[in-house]
Amino acid sequence: MLDTKYPAEPFRIKSVEPVKMIDRETREKVLKEAGYNTFLLNSEDVYIDLLTDSGTNAMSDKQWAGMMMGDEAYAGSRNWHYLEATVKELFGFKHVVPTHQGRGAENILSTLAIKAGQYTPGNMYFTTTRYHQEANGGIFYDIVIDEAHDTTAYHPFKGNIDLNKLKGLIDKVGAEQIAYVCLAITVNLAGGQPVSIENMKAVRELCDKYGIKVYYDATRCVENAFYIKEREAGYSNKTIAEIVHESFSYADGCTMSGKKDGITNIGGFLCMNDDELFIRAKELVVVFEGMPSYGGMTGRDMEALAIGLRESVQYEYIEHRIKQVRYLGDLLLDAGVPIMEPVGGHAVFLDAKRFCPHLTQDQFPAQSLAANLYLESGVRSMERGIVSAGRDVNTGENHKPKLELVRLTIPRRVYTYAHMDVVARAVIALHKNKEKIRGLRFVYEPKQLRFFTARFEEI
Ligand SMILES: *Cc1c(COP(=O)(O)O)cnc(C)c1O
Repeated sequence: MLDTKYPAEPFRIKSVEPVKMIDRETREKVLKEAGYNTFLLNSEDVYIDLLTDSGTNAMSDKQWAGMMMGDEAYAGSRNWHYLEATVKELFGFKHVVPTHQGRGAENILSTLAIKAGQYTPGNMYFTTTRYHQEANGGIFYDIVIDEAHDTTAYHPFKGNIDLNKLKGLIDKVGAEQIAYVCLAITVNLAGGQPVSIENMKAVRELCDKYGIKVYYDATRCVENAFYIKEREAGYSNKTIAEIVHESFSYADGCTMSGKKDGITNIGGFLCMNDDELFIRAKELVVVFEGMPSYGGMTGRDMEALAIGLRESVQYEYIEHRIKQVRYLGDLLLDAGVPIMEPVGGHAVFLDAKRFCPHLTQDQFPAQSLAANLYLESGVRSMERGIVSAGRDVNTGENHKPKLELVRLTIPRRVYTYAHMDVVARAVIALHKNKEKIRGLRFVYEPKQLRFFTARFEEI
């Protein structure tokens, strides 16, 4: 039998894009110019780019062929009908509204479904999701299980909602003060941790009792389905497509970024079963995104997204995807590097608090670790800690998240196991010299989503 611990790439490479490493002196110069913020580096100065898995996917030959089939009519494009039919078939919702990417869908849902002062409880938060909720007067409330905030605690479904926390909030503020429950599958900021079907069902039951809606952040729903197949009793013989479909049967709708599990470079959509909400969403989409038959995507984008969604639920694809990420995590664990465990779906997260115990959280250890990894190896990662968490909208104080992480995010179908070896060697070498990593302070701090464009200097 073939070894499936780390299955080989289930594809042949038909087109290549050369990468190269610039010398250390130049890396030091461009890092300073970028204000120690890896978001501000130029792609050409990066050797292996693990900044994000968002829109960085490699498309298949079939998707590229689909790009040539774009029907770029302003309204009623053939590609839209194919995308709509694909989403309805795979996700099972009654209505689909296209958007340019996930946050476009979040903007529309938050505008329509939140009244100022209502709560939007969620299993941790995602940056853009929470921004749109708060911009519409929503109050974010964390209801993820405690294990999600502990980088060393093992739980097979570390992204689950803690039903007692949800029930506690309902008892405290009343069901009518809850706009909806936002359930992310998987939880990006907890390290790509999955949610079980059992938990989705239980959340649905509790919310039904109180008449509360449940909307999923579906961005990584296929990765989530793989974990259910692998870990949840009764699901090992189900197909990925069946599990994805069942997952959404417990939701009233979802927001989706096509740039992740859609295996494309741009795109997204919003789904719902409610007819009234659908009509209102179509009214808003024309204002923010475009006609309800393209929502900011070109015809060819929609074709590529429809094909990508169908490819994403193929077992060989998703098995390799998850296990390649796990391979990198295992290399680091074997070398004693502190990472978030268990390894999640899309990324390996370095635990900067344990990696840099000589720095306090105010010195932005994760931000500095990401900067130093680039300096030493040309590998680009990103901060997911105090900088990403931003400030409290009322008090202006920094949120101080328990998790202070550096995310090494693996783009889909882009890099091989050999690239993972290079990344692991770089991180292990840096870990051996961790005392050299110095703290940072802000020289420019933007008001919103500050991590994207903030600038720092070394203390
Ligand atoms: C990327 C992402 C989004 C936002 O999607 P965009 O397409 O980048 O706008 C929302 N939620 C999660 C969990 C994400 O990872």
